Amino acid sequence: MIVKDAVCPFCGCLCDDIEVEVEGNRVVAVTNACELGMTKFMGEKRLKNPILRVENEWKDITYDEAIRYAADMLLSAERPLLYGWSGTHGEAQCVGVHMAELIHGVIDNTSSVCHGPSILAIQEVGHPGCTLGVVKNRADLVIYWGSNPIDAHPRHLSRYTRYAEGFFLENAFRDRKVIVVDVRKTETANIADEFVQIKPGGDYAVLSALRAIVQGKTDTIPRTVAGVTREQLIRVANLCKSAKFGAVYFGLGLTMTQGKYKNIRNAIEFISELNRHTKFTISAMRGHYNVYGSNEVNTWMTGYPFGIDFSRGIAFYNPGETTAVDILARKECDAALIVGSDPAAHFPRKCLEHLAEIPVVQLDPYPNATTAFCNVQIPVAVTGIDAEGTAYRMDGVPIRTRRVLSTDYLSDEEVLSRMYALMQEEPRP
Ligand code: SF4
Repeated sequence: MIVKDAVCPFCGCLCDDIEVEVEGNRVVAVTNACELGMTKFMGEKRLKNPILRVENEWKDITYDEAIRYAADMLLSAERPLLYGWSGTHGEAQCVGVHMAELIHGVIDNTSSVCHGPSILAIQEVGHPGCTLGVVKNRADLVIYWGSNPIDAHPRHLSRYTRYAEGFFLENAFRDRKVIVVDVRKTETANIADEFVQIKPGGDYAVLSALRAIVQGKTDTIPRTVAGVTREQLIRVANLCKSAKFGAVYFGLGLTMTQGKYKNIRNAIEFISELNRHTKFTISAMRGHYNVYGSNEVNTWMTGYPFGIDFSRGIAFYNPGETTAVDILARKECDAALIVGSDPAAHFPRKCLEHLAEIPVVQLDPYPNATTAFCNVQIPVAVTGIDAEGTAYRMDGVPIRTRRVLSTDYLSDEEVLSRMYALMQEEPRP
């Protein structure tokens, strides 16, 4: 059987043109996906059933036992943390928010350790963005700033920018210019028309210089700014001003470097400046499959995109205080539910030391680095492969994902809903 138009559940591009060949309920071939997507569809070694740690040995348990364990763990915790959510569907994220509210816990998603600062900047000055389709069809200038899509979002270039056709471009490959701004010459820089190499930590200064040039204050620019010559800055600013439609895509190289959210604010203000001369947009290269969705679901349910603390009985948000890394580093939470992410592979050592001391339940199809910190791991259907649902693409477009395999694994949503039902039987005062 061939499943057409499947959605790849790996990165924020959510490519929706994947063809998957299934034989005997096993994926045997994948067409159109990049290597990252293909690996995801072909699958890894999965856990067969829920496992419970008993004196450093793993014991097989049933779904009912695992769900009961997780519900009891969260109900008896004083300050439970519900973390992850970027690798699962909106329907499961929705149950997670209800659950956090019921137990007065903290719910946070992986954006607090990736594009959280970008969201803070957008909250301050807005987001002049657009869909990927608009960029594909209209943009004659694309800037990748602090991002390397060849490695992290391989089909972004072939579907929307460098190698894509454009409805309003006669010859997109010739007419569309690509500029890469980065601290080192990446693979994406090798295929760009212009590479701007800046010194580490120099993004804010370079953005300020570009803004000044666009405002006509060229005389104020020194001979070099963060390693970039005045001539190159003027050339780039002029390329931007003379474009008919420009798009900036920024990655963690801009968000997580010195200056953090101030960099993004400056970049957005640079785009606002350009919009006095032409049309320009700016968007984040969201990494995890449905991390955008977790921000959306949290925002429409609570008013806040991540790091939401219900300990006061109402939603409270203060990044740096109510975010997972900070709560773990302060040794504040006394139980953790991890869904659709692998914090042990990314979090600082201090956080992991605390994670090792508290009860942890993880929902994930595969054993990963966080498994070593778990008391219980519940294997679930792979979101977007053997469970369908809603995910948000990096440009904020919600897409219904397909189920390509049928398995007996419960989905995240089913496990969380059963857990939530048990918890509702014994609500907190
Ligand atoms: Fe999947 Fe991203 Fe590759 Fe598209 S670019 S196939 S969404 S990993």
